[in-house]
Amino acid sequence: MGPPGAGKGTQSARLVAKYGVPQLSTGDMLRAAVKAGAPIGRQAKAIMDRGDLVPDDVVVGAIGQRLEAPDAANGFILDGFPRTVAQAHSLDALLKEKGLRLDAVIELVVDERALLARMEMRVNETIAGGGVVRADDNPLSFKSRLEAYRAQTAPVSAYYAGKGELKQVDGMAPVDAVSAAIEAALADR
Ligand code: ADP
Repeated sequence: MGPPGAGKGTQSARLVAKYGVPQLSTGDMLRAAVKAGAPIGRQAKAIMDRGDLVPDDVVVGAIGQRLEAPDAANGFILDGFPRTVAQAHSLDALLKEKGLRLDAVIELVVDERALLARMEMRVNETIAGGGVVRADDNPLSFKSRLEAYRAQTAPVSAYYAGKGELKQVDGMAPVDAVSAAIEAALADR
């Protein structure tokens, strides 16, 4: 968990390499659906572009389906999900149904003032690499994403903290130090 620009994607990629389990990113799934012109994508595009959250049932359905894929049988990393307390409850139900439990919930704690600059850096790197900049990586949508995080996702941290499952890691540290702190958090359970 963590606000936009916290480093979830970067750290997830490292965990994928280390543990050989897939990264299930609802943002990536939704962007793929938009690109493919799938019905979910048509519903989600405008919402995502302005930085709001797509409806819970859409992402819960997508995650539920994705968990059925064979590559998720030995574990998975959830990135960007659950993002509302209702999604966290749906995840509880999905996991219970499958006889699974979360190993840990890791929150990257960052200074909000650094996030806009990180987003701008990602945009510049994407342009330099000849890639396509995300439609929601602009200052206005970014502000909405941060507001959605504060209003709808911060309570999810509190939910997992209440269950004793939340591990907070300093997301302002250098990338390698963040990875090391995540490893330590995963070992300490
Ligand atoms: P970031 O973490 O940088 O904001 P993501 O790629 O995780 O980016 O998400 C991009 C957008 O996709 C979100 O702003 C939202 O519109 C949508 N989205 C992703 N995951 C969810 C979710 N779990 N619930 C609702 N909307 C989501």
